[in-house]
Amino acid sequence: MDNKEDAHARLYKKEFHEVDYLDVKCPLCNSRIDEYGYCACGAGDS
Ligand SMILES: [Zn+2]
Repeated sequence: MDNKEDAHARLYKKEFHEVDYLDVKCPLCNSRIDEYGYCACGAGDS
């Protein structure tokens, strides 16, 4: 398990592959933003 999967499991109490993603990409890491408007790098968590 890498850090990204672990972060999602801890923060959202669900598996990384179970998180729904929006069709929006994070400006910092270029990953898709999840259903909560957050990304594993912490962008949006302000
Ligand atoms: Zn990000």
